[in-house]
Amino acid sequence: MDDTNNKKGPVNIVIGAGPTGLSAAYHLDGDALLIEQNSTVGGWCRSITDNGFTFDYAGHIMFSKDDYVHQLYKILLGDNAHWQDREAWIYSKGVYTRYPFQGALYGLPPEVIKECLMGAIEARYGSSATEESAVAPMSVAIRTPLTMRSLDAEGDSNGKPDELMDCCADGTIESIVTPGYNNDCSVAISNGEPRNFEEFIYKVWGAGIAKHFALPYNKKLWAVPLTEMETSWLGGRVPLPDLQEIIDGALQPVPRPMGPNARFGYPLRGGFQALMNGFLPYVEDQLILNTRVQAVSPGKRTVTLSDGRELRYKHLVSTMPLPVLVKLMGAEAPAEIQAAAAELRHVSVRCVNLGIGRERLTDKHWIYYPEDTLFHRIFVQGNASPYCNPPGGFGLTCEITYSEYKPLPCDGDALIQRCIEDCKRVGIFNEDDPIWAANQVDMPYAYVVYDHARPQNVKVIRDWVASKDIVLSGRYSEWEYYNSDHAFIAGKNAAEEVQRLDKLEALTRATDSGAFQPVYGTTATAAM
Ligand SMILES: Cc1cc2nc3c(=O)[nH]c(=O)nc-3n(C[C@H](O)[C@H](O)[C@H](O)COP(=O)(O)OP(=O)(O)OC[C@H]3O[C@@H](n4cnc5c(N)ncnc54)[C@H](O)[C@@H]3O)c2cc1C
Repeated sequence: MDDTNNKKGPVNIVIGAGPTGLSAAYHLDGDALLIEQNSTVGGWCRSITDNGFTFDYAGHIMFSKDDYVHQLYKILLGDNAHWQDREAWIYSKGVYTRYPFQGALYGLPPEVIKECLMGAIEARYGSSATEESAVAPMSVAIRTPLTMRSLDAEGDSNGKPDELMDCCADGTIESIVTPGYNNDCSVAISNGEPRNFEEFIYKVWGAGIAKHFALPYNKKLWAVPLTEMETSWLGGRVPLPDLQEIIDGALQPVPRPMGPNARFGYPLRGGFQALMNGFLPYVEDQLILNTRVQAVSPGKRTVTLSDGRELRYKHLVSTMPLPVLVKLMGAEAPAEIQAAAAELRHVSVRCVNLGIGRERLTDKHWIYYPEDTLFHRIFVQGNASPYCNPPGGFGLTCEITYSEYKPLPCDGDALIQRCIEDCKRVGIFNEDDPIWAANQVDMPYAYVVYDHARPQNVKVIRDWVASKDIVLSGRYSEWEYYNSDHAFIAGKNAAEEVQRLDKLEALTRATDSGAFQPVYGTTATAAM
């Protein structure tokens, strides 16, 4: 073991080469080591190939409201990107309706539409319902847009929405706050405050939409009881349903959504991985792959690697899951911190990837399944880019969340078989379609659960870690519902924080050594 490995003195270290770590290293411009346990970069934004098919670790799309992120997309992908208007659908009651559910009820059975409309009206105006969860009338309607309206000056938005768009396309936020619809009435959650996510759903949409989509879908996705979740991540307001849009969407087919809220990007070749690989020319020299950080000592300011080396760090940026970081600190983390970390809850995702031997099975990009299929979403990998398919084939990713509360019903080949059966049952492909590829990828830390204890637990850990001069960055380190565009920004912010701390330390050293004498008074500029 070479424990004097960084002989030139401590260096800045970034743990994890997912989008956050890649962005941090890129913005540190050579002034950091980037340590990654896997053999390729990208974290959950990686892709795999199997028999000519390309599959992501769960379907990933490019979507951002941030101009800087769009500049990065261009730097990282050049011409290797294409943008499409999304075709997002829901399959329930044996029919497809457009997403979001509440804006496109047309085609559902009449009694379902009636229940949804009645519920939405009651949510807006109140009812005499006695059900405990029924909605109390909200008297104060404030015109505060929660919608995604922003187009840039040229009107060329390429997928740049306003706040609160679920760019993961996992269907949770849009199904609750209806971005893209004229959702311009909301009430501050102070009046009749919903106590949890389930109550929030009832309050926003009423009993019908809750029963037929929002509750079953979100229960399936989050894999924890919705009453155990709070709602701060939904924007802190209760948007009131826009009845005219709901009624319009119930009376006639809703046209294909177009424009900024509906546009998403994807690499033309190489899957989502291509976006991550775009960082390689900038970070290659600093990148250490196949090497796990297995201990972190804030006291000694060192990380211990799986190859036995112990590296001293100047500043440490961690993008690994927060509970794992705390664990790797062992007894150096006080009991209170360990207890808070142990309480952080997350949901895992298993993807069953299927490569079917028939072209263009559907023209949809992804489909939500609120009912009894094992998966809650199929990401139509074959339509993300035609280059994800071999000639004559078509790729699908079935996404299944699981948790302690909702374990996988089976595993291995049995799980793949269940997905194939469910796909046939919902008509995505046929009994006689050949299956050219079938594999699974597992994402143990996939969704951060916003349970009621999360804000306090995260705060306690963050405060302590900050006092140890460690920068937490990204979805799993900050323990937030971030997408890869947020990850790019989080990495940039982390780099700036490291640079700020570096400057501060240099200044302190200079001041302590007497090399720097602050000059006060009106002659300061001239004296310096
Ligand atoms: C189901 C699902 C669908 C999603 N869809 C989208 C989408 O459509 N669009 C979008 O923009 N975003 C999407 N996201 C979000 C996106 O995947 C995340 O925001 C992003 O991956 C977070 O990046 P990160 O770098 O912070 O973390 P990660 O991607 O988790 O990267 C962390 C890296 O750290 C490494 N690491 C961890 N521990 C160690 C260790 N001890 N030593 C060394 N290395 C270590 C890991 O191997 C990994 O490479 C989705 C996420 C999920 C779960």
